[in-house]
Amino acid sequence: MGAQTTPMMAQYLEIKAQHRDALLFYRMGDFYEMFFDDAEAAAEALDIALTKRGKHAGEDIPMCGVPAHSAEGYLLTLIRKGFRVAICEQMEDPSEAKKRGSKAVVRREVVRLVTPGTLTEDALLEPRRHNYLAAWSEIRGDGALAWADISTGAFSVMACPAVRLGPELARLQPTEILLRDGSDVPAALDDQRAAQTHLGPASFDSESAAIRLTGHFKVKTLDGFGRFGRAQLSAMGAILDYLELTQKGQLPRLTPPTDVAIGSVMQIDAATRKNLELTASLSGGRAGSVLSVIDMTVTAAGGRLLARRLSSPLTDRREILERLEAVAYWVSDPAGRADLRQVLRRVPDLDRALSRIAIDRGGPRDLVAIRAGLDAAKALHLDLAAELPAILAKATASLGGHDELRDLLDAALVAEPPLLARDGGFVSQGFRDDLDAERQLRDEGRSVVAALQQNYARDTGIGALKIKHNNVLGYFIETPATHAQKMLSAPLSDQFIHRQTTANAVRFTTVELSEIETRILNAGGQAQAIELDVFAELCRNCLAAEPQISGVAAALAELDHFAGLAELAASLDWARPDINDTRGFEIEAGRHPVVEAALKRAGQPFIANDCTLSASDGAAITLLTGPNMAGKSTWLRQNALAAILAQMGSFVPCKAASIGLVSQVFSRVGASDDLARGQSTFMVEMVETAAILNQADDRALVILDEIGRGTATYDGLSIAWAVLEHLHAVNQCRALFATHYHELTQLAARLPGLSNATLAVKDWDGDVVFLHEVKPGAADRSYGVQVAKLAGLPKAVIARAQSVLDALEKGEREGRNDRHAMIDDLPLFRAVATETAVPKGSEVEDKLRDLDPDALTPRDALHLLYDLRTMVKD
Ligand code: ATP
Repeated sequence: MGAQTTPMMAQYLEIKAQHRDALLFYRMGDFYEMFFDDAEAAAEALDIALTKRGKHAGEDIPMCGVPAHSAEGYLLTLIRKGFRVAICEQMEDPSEAKKRGSKAVVRREVVRLVTPGTLTEDALLEPRRHNYLAAWSEIRGDGALAWADISTGAFSVMACPAVRLGPELARLQPTEILLRDGSDVPAALDDQRAAQTHLGPASFDSESAAIRLTGHFKVKTLDGFGRFGRAQLSAMGAILDYLELTQKGQLPRLTPPTDVAIGSVMQIDAATRKNLELTASLSGGRAGSVLSVIDMTVTAAGGRLLARRLSSPLTDRREILERLEAVAYWVSDPAGRADLRQVLRRVPDLDRALSRIAIDRGGPRDLVAIRAGLDAAKALHLDLAAELPAILAKATASLGGHDELRDLLDAALVAEPPLLARDGGFVSQGFRDDLDAERQLRDEGRSVVAALQQNYARDTGIGALKIKHNNVLGYFIETPATHAQKMLSAPLSDQFIHRQTTANAVRFTTVELSEIETRILNAGGQAQAIELDVFAELCRNCLAAEPQISGVAAALAELDHFAGLAELAASLDWARPDINDTRGFEIEAGRHPVVEAALKRAGQPFIANDCTLSASDGAAITLLTGPNMAGKSTWLRQNALAAILAQMGSFVPCKAASIGLVSQVFSRVGASDDLARGQSTFMVEMVETAAILNQADDRALVILDEIGRGTATYDGLSIAWAVLEHLHAVNQCRALFATHYHELTQLAARLPGLSNATLAVKDWDGDVVFLHEVKPGAADRSYGVQVAKLAGLPKAVIARAQSVLDALEKGEREGRNDRHAMIDDLPLFRAVATETAVPKGSEVEDKLRDLDPDALTPRDALHLLYDLRTMVKD
């Protein structure tokens, strides 16, 4: 066998054995090193060099490492790639270890497990997104979901039946979810990107959870927070347990749990959110989402609050009205709003700063952030009017009364401190006399000594007295030999202690001088120690005021949220919706916020459209037919968005809106791909349609876009037909149903709650012109061939498609059912293709015909010439 395992490697293996599911970042001096499989995995994931170090069991030990000072970036990459990382630090100075013997290994411990749901570092988090850790527990059929964001302290729980787990996870988008080991993984998690972490049953035990929770929140009973069932306790307990495990006892700041009632939030499942592009666009990013268009907040916390509210529209009318009142207030006061936003722009992320301080990962900049937040709070508290709508008044009330802490931080901290406390230099001059003295000694050792020299020269009356320094004696006082007698006799000899006599001089020291010398030497270290002491003291003060500071943070976020929505409403001309308990739904001149913004960038207008879906009882359904590309999907989605925006408490992009409370929004598009899940497009479409038909209640708003498209015409038509009837008769909800099956429009005559609408187009010289206007009635045709022509399908194909379509339509008019025979009647494709074959050179002609010379810049014109020449050459 190979060389023996070194003591260090033995320590490594022992620690690694306790953290098998994580990469072990093993601290060695200035680096975190990884070994064996960890090294191989990390080197590949981080694209860093894999080296080797020593041997284990006769084999080379693979190794790679990252510098400790820049570890955050590497951590982020690893977490994004799905790894968990255990951070193992040196817990003593290597010199301490040496004292135990030359072979002794530095004591090391895992101080933290870094997982996707437990991040706190700014560099690892998105400022405007919550980073939720969720836990799901099911006890005897009762389900509960708990979630926490340890970077802000938010902590909530919800009694949640298993069927609602999907929509709730879609709402929260946790990055990590805790599950009981051995329990079935709920199907809802299939859709989730969250990392799944399995914990033993003890972590989910509801009785120990109650003990953990009362202990953590230092209360005798949890009744003050709500009445929690066993499943809720179990889910919350799992969160606390996991935080203890990952933070190694250093429990983060958490607010007392909020009990969220499931019915208080509009139900919107994952597919609907995706389809409506609420917080992410179809391609996955924030850009192009509804959130990106409506977010006019100026602080990160305000942005997070907005995202949270957009994801969780309310179902309680009173609460919605309160929010609308707050938006309306700021809409009506543009100057006040501008002033408020100006102050808010300076507000840093108080929540995240406070959370870092609570787990000892804070720095001076976090304290400065709190100071800036309290500063802004004070300014706003004084500025804001007395007569405010309830929500704003409540927020403003918590802004006042923090002068003591603010003044303390103000007095203690410089304007722009360094990132790390240990770098020093962040405590203001004049805050602590002892610190000032140390700093003076450190920085001005020479002048302190010079001052002393002056004093001694004066006191002894020896002008030639000097204080000097050499490496043997350190600081010493020197007088010419001629003054030796005087210095060596009383009273001066009491103070001046003889050190050395040279040929020309006598050297002395004094107690004072040697003290100063030691202090000069230690001053740097002393100054640092005092600063760290001040830092700890300030952190303690902030933590003692934690509820107040988080109150300020929440209040500032509220103000930012409402002022942002008001800014949006005012700048884009949105209207305050009327929210009522009826089952009405009326939008006058509604617009789609994202499509409108995109068109605006292109300099084109958005055509506003009405929508009326009102029923006192039974269903209210509009069946929308119209050409491809006419704007059907846009109209469908803009109305679903109107309901969501209104119920989150925002104004709505329209002239007027009256919305009877909506309990659920469902939105489906026919034949959307989900190859990742290995289901055929048609299967996905049907599964999702089934979910709607099974779940939609009479307050639901259902948007179905071309359901039944992914199969043969007659099958699709039949399914769409039956779905429409089911919505009408059984679900009895409000729905918008877009289809190309014009046959369905006949149903309007039979179903009282169904009406037809269509999108206007103009047929202009064989081409189709979209007017994007929704009007009552049914479309006569789909203009698919014209749209295909616009898309640039080869002319031969267009011509052929047109003749097939003509034949089929003619056959239908004549009542012929024999499609094959009809198509056999047509001339062969080859014949049509030659007939319509494009003569050479016509491409150039086309290009010239489509050209608008006035709109060309000289450069465009030149490019065009080049293009034309290449065409001719071909
Ligand atoms: P298809 O049947 O092919 O799916 P569609 O009828 O659903 O098409 P949309 O996707 O809604 O059509 O819209 C197509 C394009 O038309 C949009 O990308 C947008 O640029 C434009 N458009 C849609 N609605 C309007 C509108 N109200 N005003 C102006 N432009 C619009």
